[in-house]
Amino acid sequence: MKTCKYCGKEISDELEVCPFCNAVQDDQKDKNDERAYSQMARFLKYEHIAWKAGGFVALGGCALYVCIALTFLAIGILGAASGGIRYFGSDYHIPEYYKDRILPFFVFMFFGAVYLITFLVAFLPIIIANFKMVKRVEFYQGCMETDIAVTRTRCKSVGMIVFAAIFNKAALVFIIINFVKTRTHAAEFDRIEARQKEAHAEMQSEA
Ligand SMILES: [Zn+2]
Repeated sequence: MKTCKYCGKEISDELEVCPFCNAVQDDQKDKNDERAYSQMARFLKYEHIAWKAGGFVALGGCALYVCIALTFLAIGILGAASGGIRYFGSDYHIPEYYKDRILPFFVFMFFGAVYLITFLVAFLPIIIANFKMVKRVEFYQGCMETDIAVTRTRCKSVGMIVFAAIFNKAALVFIIINFVKTRTHAAEFDRIEARQKEAHAEMQSEA
């Protein structure tokens, strides 16, 4: 004996249709649905890890490069200031001898400033995009249990593929996998969606 998945009454193992509620007892379909669902959950989880790791790597890289840029700036400013102050203290005319000694420090200062701006401009969008996606994926993970249609729509998004191609190649891999799977397992997701809608309608009528 087994229990009907829809009305819960005990029915014979061989029966493919429940005699009480007429629901089809298709175990293979159920297994496929479960597999499609858990695969989507798994690749969303991997995608989440990828965005998070990407965010921290970009943050670390940015911090490292900014430190180097700040060191350049500090060497330039301190060097030029010490060379200049020594002279400016007594006279405002800079002889050629001091100009030659101060010049390298101005080069340090210049590159320090250029690097600082370049790294901030280059890294900030990557950091923001990655950490923002961590939150977005969490939202779609939360939607799966009650409203998989939302997560499904997102997995079908071509825009996300372009976005990930720019900001995180590892996340891109998992996005493409879910992109393909939501299309190849459309029947499975249709059934999950229908079941969730049914459950939702039942809850509404009970309330
Ligand atoms: Zn039944």
